This record gives sequence, structure tokens and C-alpha cells, in this order.
Amino acid sequence: MPLVMQPVPCLSDNYAYLIHDPATGRTAVIDVPDAVPVQAALAERGWSLSDILITHHHDDHIQGVDTLRAATGAKVWGAAADAHRLPALDHALHEGDTVTLGSETGHVIDVSGHTVGHIAFHFPDSALVFTADSLMALGCGRLFEGSADQMWDSLTKLMALPDDTKVCSGHDYSKGNAAFALHVDPDNSDLQARIAQMDDDRAAGRPMAVVPLGVEKATNPFLRAGEGYLKARHGMSGEEDRLVFAHLRGLKDTF
Ligand code: ZN
Ligand code: FE
Repeated sequence: MPLVMQPVPCLSDNYAYLIHDPATGRTAVIDVPDAVPVQAALAERGWSLSDILITHHHDDHIQGVDTLRAATGAKVWGAAADAHRLPALDHALHEGDTVTLGSETGHVIDVSGHTVGHIAFHFPDSALVFTADSLMALGCGRLFEGSADQMWDSLTKLMALPDDTKVCSGHDYSKGNAAFALHVDPDNSDLQARIAQMDDDRAAGRPMAVVPLGVEKATNPFLRAGEGYLKARHGMSGEEDRLVFAHLRGLKDTF
């Protein structure tokens, strides 16, 4: 039985995510921007929290962790590389390590770039990947600590997952990201169609930060850095994909 996944909007544009294993009742949250809405969502579902998974050290992803741990006794998992700047960890993780949630196994992927030490959690049996501020809906996180090369390596790893994997990211930046995507990739008909649908999705309350990977690969300009059309349009025909990615990331910083 696949995990049940519940996005929890927090703060102004953050998302926490609950995942629940129906077979064992175990429930994890990925990131805790604010403990209050996460506790409300748990109460509403009647779930009790067993685990807290942290993606990276920024306050808007961890500031509710200690409150939630104190209230629930949940175990905290996060990157060993960031142990010095995360809430106390019960489990320190490296790339390739696994996280067990009842009958499901999550795989840890290093997705450094936005920060160094940022990790993603991939649950292949449920086709879910929690990417926070690495791969985002129509975008990717700003490079605060890592290099463009590091982020490109991270995105390349995520692109290798199956297309039906649901990418669950840390923020809804879909409006600004859509404007930029259209600016750099204007003739992309998949992108045009996706953007045309976004107002309806927003009005229907669909979580804008949850998108199948196959859709991202067709429409997210940062995942299309290897496409000939995009290279030509930016005067970079024949250039390495990672350099085209770096160029696009630089454009976004001043867009
Ligand atoms: Zn962040
Ligand atoms: Fe963030």
C-alpha cells in the first residue's frame, strides 16, 4: 500500500509534507516551517507523528522542529554534514542512506547547491521525492552556498528518477517561476499549456509545489539546459549543459 501524502501549507509560501504508512500507522513530516499547522493537520487526520525528516538548515524549514519533537517524541533525521547547524539529530544521514517509515524505504540523495548539505528523500515505492529548495516547481533554489556545477549535478540525479515521481518542493514560487520560464523558453508549447492551467489549479486549491517529474522535465527551464532549442536561443549552441544551466541560473537571479 503506498504512502498517503498530505501537503501542509506553512508561513507565507512554504510547504511541509506529511507521509503516512497505512499498514503500520507510522507518519513522518518533511520539514517543519511552523509546528502549528503541522499539528493541526495531524489532528485532523488522526495520525501520530513518528519521524521528522529535515532537508536543509534554513530557518524556514526547521524552526518548528523542536516544538514538534517535544510534543510528539518523534525521531529527527537530517544530513550528517549539517549536524552542527540543525536541531539535534537522532539519525545523521549521508547520500545513499535509507530512512525506514513502516513498510516503506526512503533513499537519501545529496542535492547540494542551494545549500551545501541539502538532501532530498526519495520513496520509490510511492513515487514521491521531497526536494525542498533544490528542484522546485518550474524552478530551482537560489545558489546561496553551492556552485552552479553542484546544483546541476543535483538536478541531474533527480532527473534520473522515473517520470511519474511526484516532486514535492519546499515553496510555492510558481507565479514568479512561470514568468521567468516563459521569458527564457517562450516557444515551449508544454510550458504554455502548463501556465494556462495554473490559475485554475490555484483557484481549485491544488498544491502548486507538487508536480510530476515528467512535467518538470518538459517545462522547467533549469531541467532543459541540455536542450538544443534553449542553447541556441541563448547563443550557447554546442556548450556544455552545466554552463547553460549556470547561465540560466544567473539570469534568474536578476529577473
Ligand atoms: Zn532554503
Ligand atoms: Fe526555503
